[in-house]
Amino acid sequence: MGGFGSGRRGGKSTTADMWALDVRKVQRAGRLTPGQSFNWQWSRNGEPVANINLHTGTDRVTLNYKARDRGGEWQSMNYPVRVEWTPCNYGGRRAWWICPAAGCGRRVAVLYGGGVYACRHCHKLAYGTQRENAGDRAGNRADKLRDRLDWEPGILNGSGCKPKGMHWRTFERLQAMHDAKARECMAGMMAKLGKSVESLDMINRATADL
Ligand SMILES: [Zn+2]
Repeated sequence: MGGFGSGRRGGKSTTADMWALDVRKVQRAGRLTPGQSFNWQWSRNGEPVANINLHTGTDRVTLNYKARDRGGEWQSMNYPVRVEWTPCNYGGRRAWWICPAAGCGRRVAVLYGGGVYACRHCHKLAYGTQRENAGDRAGNRADKLRDRLDWEPGILNGSGCKPKGMHWRTFERLQAMHDAKARECMAGMMAKLGKSVESLDMINRATADL
């Protein structure tokens, strides 16, 4: 407890790999008013997996936590994130984080934590939705190739035989193209799956721990 490693499982990080600190959730929990100090906690399968300490000021929230990069030493992190407010159409006001990364300053709803909390632009995240969309496109391409190969539509139906009258070389080329698209499509499906698991499991809980 009290910290987390920056969870990279190889390849590009996606938003699902990181802890999302959503200012709207903090606001809804009544935790943005000045002078509060509390732990903000993330859970997975009902188990707390990470938490950071937030201390609220008038126009900023100070984050305090420990982080380490790929098995390195744990480091204490402590820095303020500015908060800005904008009026809502129907009264009230909503809060925004100002991304604390050097030279950024974007107004965002969500900061993603790895070693440092920053906006998605700063993390240059491979967005889950982008991968999903690429997966859908790859699925369509795979189906077109399956049509040429006279295979049943849908990559989950596996590979079929060489159609009668098709040259082996053509068949092997189309099959290789199909397999590449099928792998892309699967990656997209996994990204989608990861997101739905995430929305179930990653329920932010503000726990008073004073
Ligand atoms: Zn940023």
